[in-house]
Amino acid sequence: MKLNTLFSTTIMVASMLAATSCGSSNNNAEQPPLPVATAVCEGVTTLEIDSATTLITLRDNAEPSTQPNRLFYGKDNKDSAKVEQLSPSGSVPSSIHAFLVKKDNKLALFDTGNGIDKGGKLLSRLDSAGYGPENIDYIILTHMHGDHIGGLLNGDSVVYARAEVFVPQVECQYWLSQSNGNGQLAARVVDAYGSRLHQFSFTDTTALPLGIRAMAAIGHTPGHSVYSVSGNRLLITGDLIHGYDLQCQDMNISPSYDINPEQAAHARKFFYSLASRKHSIIAGMHLPGNGVLIEVEPVQEMEMQAE
Ligand SMILES: [Zn+2]
Repeated sequence: MKLNTLFSTTIMVASMLAATSCGSSNNNAEQPPLPVATAVCEGVTTLEIDSATTLITLRDNAEPSTQPNRLFYGKDNKDSAKVEQLSPSGSVPSSIHAFLVKKDNKLALFDTGNGIDKGGKLLSRLDSAGYGPENIDYIILTHMHGDHIGGLLNGDSVVYARAEVFVPQVECQYWLSQSNGNGQLAARVVDAYGSRLHQFSFTDTTALPLGIRAMAAIGHTPGHSVYSVSGNRLLITGDLIHGYDLQCQDMNISPSYDINPEQAAHARKFFYSLASRKHSIIAGMHLPGNGVLIEVEPVQEMEMQAE
């Protein structure tokens, strides 16, 4: 059976909404209505998650971008033939997003993109949404790779003047133990934000504001986190996926960015399965379109077909 026909998970790109009925109705009366993405401008959309929670998607790169197939070949190119078969165009759509959650008149920004000195557009997207960096109350980090924490700094100066920053302790301590460029960037962030940077344990269920919960999603990095917002209605899934069109066909395929590919694949399947069972909306930092998946197909099907 052809794989592509089985994976009809819908990526709710704002521009597609007028042409589809996916966001406008939900046949299951027990589930809340599906949100509809509204385009604000290029790279910015808004969705009402529930009556108290708004999600604003912010694309950090100027134009939608792609990743080459070879990123997903795996150790010793073990998956190269499979990847080329599943992705015949040679590349996979993959942008960089951050997500702003507005809840209880507070603003929580999940990740900060590459930063202005690397061409990141997050601040201009934020401005288009009506906010400046000084308006951000909380910054919650999925992990500490440069395309997620670079935007916290402009040179060695803080960009977000009053935000409280939250990061899993295990993630922060890992990067502080590394002498490479990413470790050095993490150290500069920790120095710059000082007492406003809070390292939390995954076992502390009250560590985060606005009722947000962190769940360990280790593999991409040693402290990579998924966040649940409004119960499990919205899952902010960080870098579980780097090439959706490819990885939704076989969730065992990992990009070379995953530090532990086996753990990353396990986390990917676990959280996509959770989202499917709980009818969660997924917001992923490298998903295509506006970065939001409204409906997630059962992962069991994906795994069965991958074998
Ligand atoms: Zn990333």
